[in-house]
Amino acid sequence: MLYSDLAETFDRLEATSSRLEMTTILADFFRTVDTDRLREVVYLSQGKLHPDFHPQVLGMADRLVLKAIAIASGHSEKSIEELWVETGDPGEVAERMMARKKQMALFSEELTVDRVVRGLTAIENTDGRDSQDKKMKTLANMLHDSGPLEARYLCRIVTGRMRVGAGDMTILDALAEGFATKDDRPEIERAFNITCDIGLVAETIATGGMDAIRAMEITVGNPVKVMLAERLPSIPEVVEKLGGRCAMEFKYDGIRVQAHIGRDGVTLYSRRLEDMTQNFPDIARALRNKCRFGEVIVEGECVAVDPETGFMLPFQNVTHRRKKHGIDDAVRDVPVRIFLFDILYCDGRDTTGDPYPERRELLESAFIMGDMVQTTTMRVVEGPEEGEEFFSGALVARCEGIMAKSLERESVYRAGSRGYLWIKYKKDYQEALTDSFDLAVVGAFYGMGKRAGKYGALLMAAYDPEMGDFKTVCKLGTGFDDAFLDGMPALLNGNLSGTCPRSVDSEMVPDVWFEPGVVLEVVAAEITLSPTHTAARDLLKEGSGLGIRFPRFTGRVRDDKTPEQCTTVGEIVDMYGMQARDSDGLSL
Ligand code: ATP
Repeated sequence: MLYSDLAETFDRLEATSSRLEMTTILADFFRTVDTDRLREVVYLSQGKLHPDFHPQVLGMADRLVLKAIAIASGHSEKSIEELWVETGDPGEVAERMMARKKQMALFSEELTVDRVVRGLTAIENTDGRDSQDKKMKTLANMLHDSGPLEARYLCRIVTGRMRVGAGDMTILDALAEGFATKDDRPEIERAFNITCDIGLVAETIATGGMDAIRAMEITVGNPVKVMLAERLPSIPEVVEKLGGRCAMEFKYDGIRVQAHIGRDGVTLYSRRLEDMTQNFPDIARALRNKCRFGEVIVEGECVAVDPETGFMLPFQNVTHRRKKHGIDDAVRDVPVRIFLFDILYCDGRDTTGDPYPERRELLESAFIMGDMVQTTTMRVVEGPEEGEEFFSGALVARCEGIMAKSLERESVYRAGSRGYLWIKYKKDYQEALTDSFDLAVVGAFYGMGKRAGKYGALLMAAYDPEMGDFKTVCKLGTGFDDAFLDGMPALLNGNLSGTCPRSVDSEMVPDVWFEPGVVLEVVAAEITLSPTHTAARDLLKEGSGLGIRFPRFTGRVRDDKTPEQCTTVGEIVDMYGMQARDSDGLSL
């Protein structure tokens, strides 16, 4: 297959902002692709060579790419650099320079998708001496045989800037449209939720249709999208929602880990599918040693403990384990425990369809519990009083609240979904008017006075899964200390965008735009109707959206969350409803 066909499709995708149209473009295109190439084509349309949980990512420095463009186009590095300063986009530079290519090639070999995949794989795998030079030459080689459009997307892919709108949800829609029906969409999404591999799902549906999709199973080594909890503003409401009787567990404030325990080794995945085994080697070892089965997938919260007293320590302590360097010191200085709360797979059997009580029983029997590996403290509560009592016990044990879980027959593990089978209730709900929000940074405003020349405030957005975009909810200028203000460019500038990103829906125009990438935790006084913000626009009142008032940064950068995992517009609408319902104003 020619790479130019792919580049033309990317161009058509980029030219439209309608998700329906994008779906049809992708569906029509996917149908024309050989089934054994479809997996790669799907990854490439997201600017990748692998599923998200694969550790390797393409990420060539812009300057190296500019050099390759110079070699392939015959233009001077100086003129190329000038264009790059003007546009900020190596893709556009490549396109314009290849359109004005100087020397005529004597030999030119057509660029196929296969050759592009081989070239990009070589770039990804090259390391050691002269690796930068080798990467640059491999790219120059491909650019040499590229037309302007092909060059645009090659350079965007290698620099990690491929954003043509082919998000996971759009691709799932396209697979349903291209190979099945709209009604099959939930089952296709389920297949994605249990494998986190959009390329594998595409290949499976193209080769085996819906039967093959239905037969897809959880496997050790493919992370599963995590199940999430809803929130309610009081313990009695939590207990009532779950039928007057439920399981309650301590809610630990640490780092959520999904452990894939195989016969030969263990991989620990974070919520954003990063491999965190290197960060918690002690936990990985303990899980393998203490597990009574051969192959198991479990979830738990890793929490730091005081080495002297054994008491649980606040969240900040466990973040020392997230660093890339000095992990040996952190392992020694910051002892960690894992509190297991669910089991998804056990020796060849997918357990996510079992009700909670059965999963809990299996979880408790699956490990030899000890200091390092424990299950969460759990009790079945039979009414609001017992619930309040358990909640007080959780606070005494220095937990941040409780997780209530349904005991009903339908209390399965719903991969990738947030629902009322699990309900969270935190002590913060008693003190603040709202729960905290995890919001994506989509823009910045330059400061004044003490903050002149620096970013002084940020434009924050919630995720809208239905539209696949980010809607603004507030301008955030409070809660930043000097160190954070100074570090903002380093944190944010990798996501700079010359214009409002395609995935952002905003009426406010900040001084600079960012692609959604960084997620910050924010607390606020209140959710209000807002004429400015685009979250839930026109849903509750014509011409109004929802905004959050007096937002304050808590100091917590949610680097464990992707922007798509931040607070959703739907959650904000629910929180607004709870707030309006509560006459004291003391609610979520
Ligand atoms: P969310 O996970 O709902 O997107 P969040 O990351 O901000 O939100 P919280 O609102 O504090 O987290 O609570 C949910 C998280 O609590 C879970 O994702 C999990 O990491 C953690 N957790 C702690 N204890 C438990 C438990 N007993 N059962 C399930 N999750 C728990």
